[in-house]
Amino acid sequence: MPPRPLLEFAASRVRTLQPSPTLAVTERVRALRRSGVEVIDLASGDPDFPTPVHIRQAATAAIEAGDTHYVTAGGLPELRAAIAAKLASDNGVQVDPDGEVLVTAGGKAALFEAMQALVEPGTEVLILEPSWVSFAPMVQLSGGTPVPVRLSADDGFRLTAERLAAAISPRTRILLVNSPNNPTGRVFDEAEWKVVREAAVAWDLLIFSDEIYEKILFDGRAHHSPASFPELAGRTLTFNGFSKAYAMTGWRLGYVAGPRALLSQIAKVHGHSATCVPGFTQRGAVAALNGPQTPIAEMVAAWDRRRRIAVPLLEQIPGVRCPLPEGAFYLFADVRGAGASSLELANRIVEQAHVAVMPGTAFGEAGEGFLRIALTTPDPQLREALERIRRCLQG
Ligand code: PMP
Ligand code: GLU
Repeated sequence: MPPRPLLEFAASRVRTLQPSPTLAVTERVRALRRSGVEVIDLASGDPDFPTPVHIRQAATAAIEAGDTHYVTAGGLPELRAAIAAKLASDNGVQVDPDGEVLVTAGGKAALFEAMQALVEPGTEVLILEPSWVSFAPMVQLSGGTPVPVRLSADDGFRLTAERLAAAISPRTRILLVNSPNNPTGRVFDEAEWKVVREAAVAWDLLIFSDEIYEKILFDGRAHHSPASFPELAGRTLTFNGFSKAYAMTGWRLGYVAGPRALLSQIAKVHGHSATCVPGFTQRGAVAALNGPQTPIAEMVAAWDRRRRIAVPLLEQIPGVRCPLPEGAFYLFADVRGAGASSLELANRIVEQAHVAVMPGTAFGEAGEGFLRIALTTPDPQLREALERIRRCLQG
């Protein structure tokens, strides 16, 4: 028998999947830099600050003390207790640290494991677009169907009851929300939360709430956790992590919290895949939650300053509009007037101006005509990058 082409051994649900576009652009930046090109990276969502020193010290002390073996699968009891205390005090969310909190290798792994546990063929998951790049692929990898709810730039990507209702079917089980939002920088207002609350109850949905940017808010805005709303508490999973708030992207630390009946299912997926998250990184997370929170305010002040620097510079470019983001550390610039697709523009900008940005279509069709610009670069490079983009787009 002639050998099968190797690709035929790949599962069709994986063969049809695109690689993560955010990771692909970041790898491209690394490759260009290795070949000597000086690229400014406005594509990747990685805080440009070191992890605060007390967090690093807690982890290195744990390594030195020999904390290098398997630990409790669901997370160190001290960390689960700190997470439950944080959810209660910051978010008004009540969970039992014993059985309602699971520590994972990043917020990404928490979402992935939850999808594996709760999504199956036939399950429809509503994803508000533009959306972070990995939501839909995670649904597909668990055999479910991602259903886009396309929000419109014309009303500032607001969630409305009409748009949501149009996407609901008898097979809808989960509504995924992400406020503050990557990539749009939007923060849900009261009316949007009302839409979420009413829809969840009316259609008997679970809410997956990705709150990874909760600490990054501007102009005095407040964060709301849907699990703090009485009617949603029993039907919400709260996802969060340490990457953004504490500049700990490389540590791979996150968690999911919510009702025991669901967490016990997710814990099985976790046990059979991750086993546990390293104990010494978890010691860093304990220090992050229990230690001083001032480093967050310092980083948010920098991102606040940069959005004010960047938006007027972008708006000087003919055909470009950009609202100030309300939260998270991305600008979502409207380049519909620039006369090319967002992918063409992003490619032109990286080739000619040596600045990496994300094309809006990486976040779904609703992102066409937009570029995502991360504010995670020091002010001088940010100014230089925007000047290069201006020269490039003005031709
Ligand atoms: N959700 C959103 C919206 C994100 O932008 C990211 C990217 N970092 C994540 C989840 C996952 O972050 P991590 O796995 O580093 O915790
Ligand atoms: N979430 C970040 C981003 O959107 C980091 C990369 C990733 O995990 O997708 O750029």
